[in-house]
Amino acid sequence: ICPVEPGATVSDACASYADLDKLNARLNPALHDLVTETDFFSYYRLNLYNKKCPFWSDDEGLCGNIACAVTTLENEEDIPEIWRAEELSRLEGPKAHHPGKKEQRELERPLQGELGENVGESCVVEYDDECDERDYCVPEDESASAKGDYVSLLDNPERFTGYAGEGAHQIWEAIYRENCFSKPSSSEQSLGSVAIGGPFAGFSGMQGQAAQDLKSVMKEHGRQQASQVGKVEDNMEFDDECLEKRVFYRVISGMHASISTHLCYDYLNQSTGKWGPNLECYKQRLHTHPERISNLYFNYALMARAAGKLKDYVQDYTFCTGDPKQDKRTKNMALNVAKTIPAGPEIFDESVMFRENPLGETGISLKEDFRNRFRNVSRIMDCVGCDKCRLWGKLQTAGYGTALKILFEFNNEQPAPALKRIELVAFFNTLDKVSNAIKALGDFQRMLAEEKGVP
Ligand code: FAD
Repeated sequence: ICPVEPGATVSDACASYADLDKLNARLNPALHDLVTETDFFSYYRLNLYNKKCPFWSDDEGLCGNIACAVTTLENEEDIPEIWRAEELSRLEGPKAHHPGKKEQRELERPLQGELGENVGESCVVEYDDECDERDYCVPEDESASAKGDYVSLLDNPERFTGYAGEGAHQIWEAIYRENCFSKPSSSEQSLGSVAIGGPFAGFSGMQGQAAQDLKSVMKEHGRQQASQVGKVEDNMEFDDECLEKRVFYRVISGMHASISTHLCYDYLNQSTGKWGPNLECYKQRLHTHPERISNLYFNYALMARAAGKLKDYVQDYTFCTGDPKQDKRTKNMALNVAKTIPAGPEIFDESVMFRENPLGETGISLKEDFRNRFRNVSRIMDCVGCDKCRLWGKLQTAGYGTALKILFEFNNEQPAPALKRIELVAFFNTLDKVSNAIKALGDFQRMLAEEKGVP
């Protein structure tokens, strides 16, 4: 099933897919519990309607379909007590002052009484309106004074909305080209045209640069060495681009592939009015583009590695929903996710990135560039003309931004930066999205095999 082609140890790449599928079989149920059964991870606050698109007039390309609409929580009663505006402003108190970037004021929880077994823990009042220099996205503001809406992520699933055409294309183009590293010329076409066959062709189709990049950062069974990166550059069409720029492209393309998978998997059949998987949609957007599938796996490896790195952080984190029992359960569920993932760099080795490269770019300047461009992507999301797409686009950009922060800023040399509640929510929900997309790919592969009559 795995085709052999020059420059790529395709059998390794296939093993990687299989390894990640195996991991996902365990991780997916744990993530599902976390994001569907806890208040902490199912409510997200963001400024969905009041931010103007900073790049062009956003009056055009608006989506009027009902499926594009987001149900926000209008009624304060529906929001866990601790996050209500009244409560947040009360916590700030008359002597409230802005703690600035570094300082975050800790207050004993005033309303909750006993904290169960974790007596002594306190809730952190978060001020999210300032950007930490180590942030990879523009943070949403969860403070009481901010114009934001609480959204139940469970009530607003990411699915087909009908948002398409010029408006949607303009956003993707801006993300790929205008504000980010330029999309590698013809890479889509050249990689996409590789002839592949068989029911699992999508999986076996990770080739060329896609396979090499994945191999560069994924240490397969500990055999992959950082020195591999040099080899990668040799016979590929991206010769003039460094690993970091390609990684950036893959993160975006993987996110795009995840969105496409979700909209194909939860598609509205307009003749029957029923929601369900649309195999044609999958074939057109994913199956015939194996590099998109490989980028999705790439993102899965990246996100999973970041979640594995979060184990100690989650262990020490104080979850604040106002209900100590639920907080404890939430922590256990989050730990369950983090512990499922191997702690080492077996699945993704970020240490090969942001080193001085043969093009003379230093690690620090590359990282800064990378971070700035990622922040731009998060600003572009304010231009998305469909509310639901904007919600998930913003959340996922914040989720990847948080993953990058965890991967590249959590090291032993300096204290780990604090993660805001909304960063954690965005991160775990984004991982859940990618995990569900990987699972959906498996279902699509089976449907395709059935259609072709392959047992
Ligand atoms: P598009 O998906 O718009 O792609 C445009 C071009 O980009 C393609 O022609 C191709 O050249 C290239 N491309 C496509 N996929 C990839 C990839 N993975 N990697 C690299 N290049 C690629 N629609 C929904 O129904 N539900 C949603 O929740 C939703 N969320 C969205 C969120 C955002 C941020 C944006 C910008 C759009 C969203 N959309 C959503 C719209 C959806 O992504 C498509 O734009 C729309 O369905 C039209 O699809 P298309 O086939 O024309 O190609």
